[in-house]
Amino acid sequence: MARPTRKKYDELEEKYKSILDTPYGFETPQGWLPLLEEFLEKAINFEGWFKIVQIKEKFGGLRIYIDTEDDVPNEIRTMIEGLIAEAEFKANRCCHECGCSIDRDSAKKHKFYVLCDNCSVVKDETQ
Ligand SMILES: [Zn+2]
Repeated sequence: MARPTRKKYDELEEKYKSILDTPYGFETPQGWLPLLEEFLEKAINFEGWFKIVQIKEKFGGLRIYIDTEDDVPNEIRTMIEGLIAEAEFKANRCCHECGCSIDRDSAKKHKFYVLCDNCSVVKDETQ
């Protein structure tokens, strides 16, 4: 599985460091980068109320873990959780490799990787 260059993650980690508390950084399938960037862009509006402690792939799905401040108002918490749910939902419906939208149920699965037809072909040929 191709991974995007470390540089792209470093850029995101630098840009959104005020809401990130991920000492070891994070890496995901490269197809998720656009939706992660979109998520971080919205999430930074709630800076100060929470920190993202982990972003990872688990069983082919995106997982975003956060720590929230004790006094975070319920409506803020709900909005942050909504953004996470949205990102995780989208991640389940896009190709891990190129990021195009796919229907997870009909997509070819390579163990836990979810790939569109084009990327499946490339992967099959290189294995
Ligand atoms: Zn693809």
